[in-house]
Amino acid sequence: MKKIINAKKRIGEHQLHPESLMMSYGYDSDLSEGAVKPPVFLTSTFSYPTAEAGEEFFHVASGRKPVPEGESAGLIYSRFNQPNVEMVEDRLALLEGSEEAVVCASGMGSITATLLSALRPGDVLMHSSPLYGGTEVMFRNIMTEFGIKLVEFHDGCSEASIMAAVQEAKSLGPIAMIFAESPGNPTNALIDIDLIVKTANLIETEQGKRPVTAIDNTLMGPIFSQVVPRGIDLAVYSLTKYVGGHSDLVAGAVCGNGDTINAVRTIRNCMGLNSDPHTCWMISRSLETLSIRMQREAETGLKIAQWLANNPHMKVKVLHPNLIEDELYQTVYAKQCSGPGSTFSFVLDAPRTDAFKFINALVLFKSAVSLGGTESLVSHPASTTHSGVPEEVRKDVGIEEGLIRLSIGLEHPEDLIADLSNAFKVLVS
Ligand SMILES: *Cc1c(COP(=O)(O)O)cnc(C)c1O
Repeated sequence: MKKIINAKKRIGEHQLHPESLMMSYGYDSDLSEGAVKPPVFLTSTFSYPTAEAGEEFFHVASGRKPVPEGESAGLIYSRFNQPNVEMVEDRLALLEGSEEAVVCASGMGSITATLLSALRPGDVLMHSSPLYGGTEVMFRNIMTEFGIKLVEFHDGCSEASIMAAVQEAKSLGPIAMIFAESPGNPTNALIDIDLIVKTANLIETEQGKRPVTAIDNTLMGPIFSQVVPRGIDLAVYSLTKYVGGHSDLVAGAVCGNGDTINAVRTIRNCMGLNSDPHTCWMISRSLETLSIRMQREAETGLKIAQWLANNPHMKVKVLHPNLIEDELYQTVYAKQCSGPGSTFSFVLDAPRTDAFKFINALVLFKSAVSLGGTESLVSHPASTTHSGVPEEVRKDVGIEEGLIRLSIGLEHPEDLIADLSNAFKVLVS
């Protein structure tokens, strides 16, 4: 077995912060000729020191024996695990505050592993709405083909809305999972995490078996929101976004504890959803700057949101967490988020053609889907990511024709404001 050597989380009595551990945790340079930075382990398979060790590795990998205290499972084959993926998993778990993490080939891969770890034909999947487009398509078009029944709730801060969904779900079958996205994209609607945990407890009392709770934590986590320490079973991530952070890779992860995360890992390994060493190496580099990037992007984002709210050109509604004037929203925001992230929307009181005119006039903001990169992006959800959502549903959840979503990167705030200001001038001219 490989000993986990570089897993010190404290110096004497002093507890180290996750930021300080992003450069070293889970990597032993002595095993790699003293290299300060980890090599990219381009190997599909790993040799055992002895045949007996190989036997032991398989006992552990197949769950016949527990991982020995203070050690990690021996490496066997890169579809199961490899050093670069392990480093990312160890470090991501530190940031999320979970025992473990499982890295996948994409955010959708991590959602697939999450769903298949807990849902069986006939089960009910309760979920928030609206969801990320890809998630919505997977739920509606694919999971239902496998006999999964869907029940949605529209307001994740309202106990009445969630309890109505529970009543409907109960009549359809066993509730095996509650899946929610917080904050929601593109409106920044929040899910009250404590309410989800309370609902899962209630369902457990009624039906005997506890539903697995999962939150897509991509937009604010793991820097401004950690959901596993609040009692959520699984935190789901698209690492393509803030964690990768440079718009140059696609990956995902699930964080959690105990048997729940082990079930996700089993699906990942069996179904071939693991990521590759090179991508994981890039993510381990990205993790070193994650905290500083997200902090700066959030600061800049707030400056831009405030400018938009008071801009001299045109009155717009700004859907930034700090500026959403709703008492319940602000209570939930204050208790479970330590910052706003840097993805938010604003709404022009104007038709789609005006939103297009505005977007086309921007210079620094690139018009593209995705978010969380070092460069600022702009998108028009109603015509792109959410074009598959029926118009009346879009209206219902606030994805209006004049809604424009921004993902703020690391450019100077004054330059981004100049870009937006110029686009308003073009629009009103
Ligand atoms: C992008 C995204 C996903 C999907 O992730 P991929 O890495 O593109 O597969 C899931 N959820 C949210 C909230 C996202 O933004």
